[in-house]
Amino acid sequence: MKKYECDVAVVALGLSGLATAVAAAEQGLSVIGFEKMRITGGAANMGMGPFAVESRVQKKTQLTLTREEAFMFHMEYTHWNVDAHLVHDIFWKSADTIDWLMDMGVEFIVAPYFPKAQWTAHNVIPEGGGHPGPRGAGTMIKRLTERAEQLGVQMVFETPVKEIIMEDGRAVGIRATGPDGEEVECRSKFVAICTGGIGSNLEMKEELTGVKPGEVEYFADVPGLNGDGLRMAWAAGAGRAPLHPEFGVGVHDNFNHWHLEGAFRSKPELTVNRDGFRFINEEMNEMGSFFGNAIVRQPGKVCYEIVDTAHIKHLQKYGPEVLDEVHGSDFYDFFFEDAETALAEEDFSKYFFKADTIEELAEKAGINKENLVDTIEKWNSYCEHGRDLELCRTRYMNPISTPPYYCMKMILQTSSGGVPGGIKVNHKLQCVTDDNKVIPGLYACGIDACNIYGDTYNFYFPGLNMGFCLNSGRLAAEYMAEELNDF
Ligand SMILES: Cc1cc2nc3c(=O)[nH]c(=O)nc-3n(C[C@H](O)[C@H](O)[C@H](O)COP(=O)(O)OP(=O)(O)OC[C@H]3O[C@@H](n4cnc5c(N)ncnc54)[C@H](O)[C@@H]3O)c2cc1C
Repeated sequence: MKKYECDVAVVALGLSGLATAVAAAEQGLSVIGFEKMRITGGAANMGMGPFAVESRVQKKTQLTLTREEAFMFHMEYTHWNVDAHLVHDIFWKSADTIDWLMDMGVEFIVAPYFPKAQWTAHNVIPEGGGHPGPRGAGTMIKRLTERAEQLGVQMVFETPVKEIIMEDGRAVGIRATGPDGEEVECRSKFVAICTGGIGSNLEMKEELTGVKPGEVEYFADVPGLNGDGLRMAWAAGAGRAPLHPEFGVGVHDNFNHWHLEGAFRSKPELTVNRDGFRFINEEMNEMGSFFGNAIVRQPGKVCYEIVDTAHIKHLQKYGPEVLDEVHGSDFYDFFFEDAETALAEEDFSKYFFKADTIEELAEKAGINKENLVDTIEKWNSYCEHGRDLELCRTRYMNPISTPPYYCMKMILQTSSGGVPGGIKVNHKLQCVTDDNKVIPGLYACGIDACNIYGDTYNFYFPGLNMGFCLNSGRLAAEYMAEELNDF
């Protein structure tokens, strides 16, 4: 058996694990991180950047959202159904965390994700230039990893942790399996669980979220996020906190149909359910998590977005009405060509339809024909009179009147990083039992312990996932150092 000893054993070196490890080492604690994969960063390698409020980047951009405003907004959004102290501490630490990362050489640009969102996302500028966007946060991971190395954090790769060692009710280390199958044991004063949630574990997702695997498409699958941390924490006596998947709505196999995803997702198009009825003010499609909630209530948990040819031609000529950070601005340029290619694909043609009449479109897509015809008649009349009498839409109201018509079957989606929660923690990130008793020595950070959203991810504050992961890691490390001084 291979044996280690340290102050803090960090279970996993994703975003929150790295933040915990670096912050603990900066406090003078000896740290060993055990990571299942060969690399650091977990799901964060796929992302764009973290939340912060009152950061120096925001101040330079003349943004005036205060921590108090953000805190009150978030607490009202969650109906005060989450740990107010933890939310406070995460928000208050967030600006300092941006400074902390900038001191490591990370550069940021702030962005909102949609008009009503706050400019809280600090998207990472990729090293060597390039546009901040998906995977840009990989540069932040690189800098954190370098900083960990510089501080002497020992990083043990390909070593999945299996168990928390408990003695007299206290966490005193971990057991893991090394790359060659050798048993590994690390004795430590503290254990920090940071395994990134249950995102890749279909069984746990079905059991804990109630949504069957066939009803939701998981994109950007990050292998290894199997809920290990939750299982180990629960086995060590930690309580269970509810998990709420961050559902959104998207195009099937979206990464391979990026321009069509941009065309149908970034802007509200007329949206109906399988019965042919509208069910949401389509403007809400920018607030993906609300759209996701509404879809969960629909038959088959799907919806259908419909556009006509005149509208696409208009957008090609005058440019997209809505732009976002993710899709760029050219997603209509080759719409008709992209559409023909997609319609010819065996798999994708089950999700994407084209027809010369609404009746034919309904038949192809499997939507109730009579209701769809009626819905479109009504919709065209709302467009003509500039007033949506059903669901109060006010923007981008375009009639469906020029064939051929296109219909995208949109599905419930979430990324594998997007199932937060599970381990019950207090505001110091200490694991607690179901009746709130602290389990000495045991901390949990990042998505495993992210219980601050209530039932729906707060997309009004983009970047909140990474914000929680970084700041919970830093806070936990500071509490560990404080506790060590009292030993
Ligand atoms: C495509 C995509 C884009 C995203 N974009 C953003 C964004 O722009 N902004 C934002 O805020 N959030 C974003 N997110 C979410 C964000 O990346 C995650 O919430 C965040 O990375 C979670 O951090 P974490 O430390 O909890 O887990 P992760 O960073 O996923 O790390 C978990 C680590 O645990 C390891 N592990 C698991 N089990 C074990 C074990 N038993 N032993 C040892 N190691 C183990 C894994 O290998 C992994 O390295 C995105 C997610 C995805 C998938």
